[in-house]
Formats: sequence, structure tokens, C-alpha cells
Amino acid sequence: MKRAHKRVLVTGGAGFLGSHLCERLLARGDDVLCLDNFFTGSRDNVLPMIGHPRFEVMRHDVTVPLFVEVDEIYNLACPASPVHYQNNPVQTIKTAVHGAINMLGLAKRLNAKILQASTSEVYGDPTVHPQTEDYRGNVNPIGPRSCYDEGKRCAETLFFDYQRQNKVNIRVARIFNTYGPRMHPNDGRVISNFIAQALRGEPITLFGDGQQTRSFCYVDDLVEGFLRLMDSDASVTGPVNLGNPAEFTIAELARLVVEMTGSASRLVYRPLPQDDPKQRRPDISLARETLHWAPTIELREGLTRTIDYFDALLRRGAPLPQLAAQ
Ligand code: NAD
Ligand code: UDP
Ligand code: UDP
Repeated sequence: MKRAHKRVLVTGGAGFLGSHLCERLLARGDDVLCLDNFFTGSRDNVLPMIGHPRFEVMRHDVTVPLFVEVDEIYNLACPASPVHYQNNPVQTIKTAVHGAINMLGLAKRLNAKILQASTSEVYGDPTVHPQTEDYRGNVNPIGPRSCYDEGKRCAETLFFDYQRQNKVNIRVARIFNTYGPRMHPNDGRVISNFIAQALRGEPITLFGDGQQTRSFCYVDDLVEGFLRLMDSDASVTGPVNLGNPAEFTIAELARLVVEMTGSASRLVYRPLPQDDPKQRRPDISLARETLHWAPTIELREGLTRTIDYFDALLRRGAPLPQLAAQ
């Protein structure tokens, strides 16, 4: 039987990226099942979609088997910022690894397409610059970031083994730092921290000397990349880098945020966290060639939209969401 609507499962759908993805999928006419355990995600992120006839939210932990019927799966469930994923590192690994096994088992049973939200962290503190997909990385297996880095690397292994062993139709996206409205205000990531600090007039905390680099992709561009990857030919499995190749030092970002918010905040220096990557920039040639994708939103434009979001959030004076117990 041919269905009127494609049924799409988004794990981690109440999170930052997941909620934007759910919106795009609904807008193009899909049936969306948003699954989340609300560890770092929130009901507020999906509130505008609740009540939509093609949208459903389900509280569930991906480390537990799941039996639903869908055509496509986007596997995003996993805490993403260092502060969040180091909060309960064992749970982070379980989410990355057991979550991948369960979602791959589901995809195998249903003969569904499945996309994994992997990460530039699989490259660790890279010794090759910019990072191409064939670079195998420089990851510390026993450091404070390892629960996330190694969990995501193992998830990639599982994706490719399920493809080889069970012919599962997989896609793996390696996401580089992405930002935008609905980032968790307490997630400790650099853009949410700097904007919140600038808006509150608090000191801007630069870790290390601020000369480490990152490349920042606006969320709408990233979501477009997800959709193109999922919709592409089955031979396009990835891993494929998705990110914005424009590279900035963290000190440059701090100055830009101060300028754009008109803040009186001063810059203060704090110790660099262990294993913090010194340089990060995606080589997106593969995404350009195979997905005809490239980011379109420059940092200033994306920051304007993100600052507006945080400004409204802070003005409302609502207590900031805290981490749910796990
Ligand atoms: P986020 O924390 O906002 O979203 C993650 C979501 O997963 C949250 O809603 C959380 O409650 C949910 N979740 C966590 N553990 C779960 C579990 N065991 N079962 C069910 N749900 C669970 O983070 P995000 O930035 O939206 O990241 C989404 C995905 O993209 C993650 O897999 C992350 O690793 C990946 N990613 C994000 C970035 C980025 O810059 N935002 C970069 C690289 C990779
Ligand atoms: N699984 C699931 N939903 C399904 C099918 C499987 O959650 O619809 C889980 C299943 O419980 C198992 C995992 O996915 O823990 C891997 O499934 P697979 O069939 O690959 O492995 P097996 O069940 O043979 O261990
Ligand atoms: N960072 C910083 N001040 C902050 C938060 C982060 O200088 O308040 C730095 C951090 O050390 C890292 C970069 O900004 O070099 C990006 O950090 P984030 O946690 O956003 O992402 P990731 O390190 O996972 O790329």
C-alpha cells in the first residue's frame, strides 16, 4: 500500500537540531514521530508543533528497544555539548552505542533508511587541516571527551557493519559546530555562552588564549544538508562532512558577539579544557559534489537571529531550563 505521507522518526527530536528538523519535515508534508527522553531537549522546543495532525511526541530512551513503524529514521539522540555529555559519561556512551544498535535494529526490521548524526569530534584534535572524510582522526580514548568521541566513532562502525552485514540503507553525517535559536542556554557551548554573557553584561569567558579555531554552521543550513543526504541515492552513505568552512578564532567570535550585542562585557581568560581541539574546519568538497550542498548563511546573519532568540528568552525572565535527572 502506498502511503500518503512518509513516516519519519527523529530521535532527539526535542533538542536543538532535532526540533528544527521536525519543523522542516512537517513543512514538507511528512508524518513526524519525535522521540526524546528530555535529558537536554525540552517540550518548549516542540511546543509550536504540538497539536499538528502529522506530529507526535514520544518520551522514550533510545538505549531501550523501540517498536514503531516508520520509513525513515534520523538518529540525533545524544547530549552534544561537552558540559552535557560529561555530566554522565557512561550514559553518554550507552546512548551513542546502545542507541545506535537499537535504531539500526529497527531500521533493519523495517527496511527503513537511517541517518546518523555523527560529529567532527571523530577527528579529535586534528593533525590535518581542513578535515576531509578520509582523515582518521587524533582521538584520546581515555580522556574527558572520549565518552562522546569514542561513542560516536563506535556508532559509525555499527552503521557500516549493519550496512555490510544486513544491507541496511545508512547515511552518516559528520556535523561540525552548529548554532542557532533553541540552543540550550546552559549547554556551555561557546556561542550560547558568549551571547548569554554579553546580553547579561557578564565577563566573556575565553578558554586558553582564544586562538583555537572553530567553523560555525547555522542550523537551517545544516538541516538542509540532512534532508539532501537522506534523499540522495542509496550509494551516498557518507560519512560526509556537514559544516560551514568559514573559520574563526574563538577570540574573533568573542569580539564579534560583543560588537553585535553592543555589550559592555570585558573578555576574561580561563584555563583551556583538556583535549580541546586547536583547529577545526570542514573540507566540504564531498557534500558539494554529491549533495550539491553548501552553507548559505554567514556568521553575522546567523548570530543576529541567535542573539534575537536569546534576548527574547532572557527578557522573559523565565528560569533557564536545567538538566533533567538521568
Ligand atoms: P541537543 O542536546 O539539543 O539534542 C539532543 C537531544 O537528544 C536532546 O533533546 C536530548 O534530550 C535527547 N537525548 C539525549 N539522550 C537521549 C536518549 N538516551 N534517548 C532519547 N533522547 C535522548 O543537541 P543537538 O545540538 O541538537 O545535537 C543533536 C545531535 O547532533 C547529537 O547527536 C549531536 O551529537 C549531533 N551533533 C551536534 C552538533 C552541534 O554543533 N549542534 C555537532 C556535532 C554533532
Ligand atoms: N530492535 C528494536 N526495534 C526493532 C528491532 C530491533 O529496538 O524493531 C533492537 C533489538 O531489541 C536489538 C537491537 O535492536 O536489541 C538490534 O537488533 P538486531 O536485530 O540487529 O539484533 P538482535 O536482535 O539479533 O540482537
Ligand atoms: N569556549 C570558550 N569559552 C566558553 C565556551 C567554550 O572559549 O565559554 C571554547 C572551547 O574551549 C572550544 C570552543 O570554544 O575551544 C568551542 O567550544 P564548544 O564547547 O562550543 O564546542 P566544541 O569544543 O565541542 O567544538
